[in-house]
Amino acid sequence: MYCDQCKVLRCKKEQGEIPAHCPMLREDLLAKSHELLHQSENAKFFQAAAVVEAKGYGHWPRVREIAELCKAMNYKRLGLAFCIGLQKEALAFSSLMREHDIEVVSTVCKVGATPKEDFGIGEESKIRPGTFEVICNPIAQALYLNEQQVPLNVILGLCVGHDALFVKYATAFTVVLAAKDRVLAHNPLGALYAANYCLGLKD
Ligand code: SF4
Repeated sequence: MYCDQCKVLRCKKEQGEIPAHCPMLREDLLAKSHELLHQSENAKFFQAAAVVEAKGYGHWPRVREIAELCKAMNYKRLGLAFCIGLQKEALAFSSLMREHDIEVVSTVCKVGATPKEDFGIGEESKIRPGTFEVICNPIAQALYLNEQQVPLNVILGLCVGHDALFVKYATAFTVVLAAKDRVLAHNPLGALYAANYCLGLKD
């Protein structure tokens, strides 16, 4: 059994029996997580996130929540790693952050102008074979923002997989503003809502 199939939901109750195969049975891991959450940098960030969650619950959009998280942490700058297809949205985001006195250092996915051929990606794997196409370089985005010493990174629409590489190499905390989904207007959950309807999944 895994959490997605669990009907007990003991994890949000004060007491009750813990089901078999529940991750909560791993008391050693829970203790380790508590130890890490109590570390000063993590604790401050974690508490700020909880305050933002509670204050804006149901009425602040995610963009506002990011601004409020920065304010709660006294962050005056953030890094924005965005997809070139979302440059207008990146500009709108940085404009909104400026209204909250937060400076945005941004870097686009295509930074480097490196041809796909340099990484063994042939014509058959291009989006438009026969044209000049450059790689996305999430590691360059991460290294650049690391060097800028921003305390928080925001991901805006990086591709599946590129986002993972960015997170792997970014040294600051990273939050996701939007996940790339070209088919569903960057709302990947749309596929799951449709699946729930088609599969007739109920609570
Ligand atoms: S943590 Fe345990 S109780 Fe909570 S959903 Fe997972 S299996 Fe169920």
